[in-house]
Amino acid sequence: MKEILPGAAIGVLGSGQLGRMFAIAARRMGYRVHTFSPEADTPTGQVSDVEVTASYDDLDEVRRFASNVRVVTFEFENVPAATAAAAAERAPVRPAGAVLHTTQHRLREKTFLSRAGLPVTPFRVVRRLEDLTAALVELGCPAILKTAGFGYDGKGQYRINHPAQAEAAWHGVGRQEAVLEKFVHFAKEVSVVAARSEDGRFVHYGVVENEHRNHILDVTIAPARVTEKVAAAAEELTRTVFEKLDVVGVLCVEFFLTHHGDLLINEMAPRPHNSGHFTFDACVTSQFEQQLRAVCGLPLGSTRRMTPAVMVNLLGDLWTGGEPDWAAAAAVENIKIHLYGKLRARPGRKMGHLTALAPTTGEALETALRARDLVAAGPKRQ
Ligand code: AMP
Repeated sequence: MKEILPGAAIGVLGSGQLGRMFAIAARRMGYRVHTFSPEADTPTGQVSDVEVTASYDDLDEVRRFASNVRVVTFEFENVPAATAAAAAERAPVRPAGAVLHTTQHRLREKTFLSRAGLPVTPFRVVRRLEDLTAALVELGCPAILKTAGFGYDGKGQYRINHPAQAEAAWHGVGRQEAVLEKFVHFAKEVSVVAARSEDGRFVHYGVVENEHRNHILDVTIAPARVTEKVAAAAEELTRTVFEKLDVVGVLCVEFFLTHHGDLLINEMAPRPHNSGHFTFDACVTSQFEQQLRAVCGLPLGSTRRMTPAVMVNLLGDLWTGGEPDWAAAAAVENIKIHLYGKLRARPGRKMGHLTALAPTTGEALETALRARDLVAAGPKRQ
């Protein structure tokens, strides 16, 4: 493909923090950024050249948007397939709509993975309450019922500890197509963010370790504290996903690591990922610049991590007692503060993150958690 060079306009579907960090990387390299979403004054819009506010279903607006840019990418994979298709009439869409189609729907995603011979959490398709009852007998309890489409950060998920809870869970997911997954008593959760160019070159950022709280990512430790064998296996599985799915761009594969040292793929995200935010400060090329390079047909950049790093998320809960104490975080050495410019803080909403850089993961973890405690303590001190 012909390279899209600095000065060109890039279109981003979606307007959250991932688009914001992408836009910062793109503008630093001299590109123009246009963003499209139903909201105004958005995290991405605030740092873009052009912010279009329209519904994803307004396909004429989508076409107009795509006509004004050289390539369209996205930061939000739940964009309707028709939106990606309308954009593709006017500009290349990368990664391709087919990747989006597979990864935005749990059932398609899991079916793809198991057909490709990749290890996934045992699952069953649920279309009726009777399917759920039968699946619970086969997989046993505890299990998790997840909506097939449009789920993220644990939304649309119901844990079933006893078969008697089946009906409540079925109502909970809105009696729509769902997937029942066996509950995995994992040792750790890990992920690999990687990128692939159109000519098939593959690079990755190594395996990182993730801790979730209430189904939302809380802490990422880079590198993961796992054996070399586990790290190599996760990297190889990620490469296979990229090749079988024919991804051009950035994608993250999330895994459960069992107590036996086996890896099971939990899910994939066809874009930069929260567990790759540390790359912004710790790596030669961030995951956002890598997405830019991949979709513009530029050579991929070095993924070398210059130092161990730990990222902690800042959720809206921190605002409960007033504005957090940013000066306290700024006083901590080796901390980078990222805030997404969201106008309202709500519990569970991702408002920003901190990244700590240190010679060891242990020190980085201690620094990141200490900085977050200081920020949180702010409003209560006075
Ligand atoms: P998901 O939205 O599917 O990535 O789920 C969010 C988080 O919920 C995961 O990162 C896990 O911490 C937890 N979780 C989801 N599915 C399972 C499962 N089958 N077994 C154990 N924990 C799970």
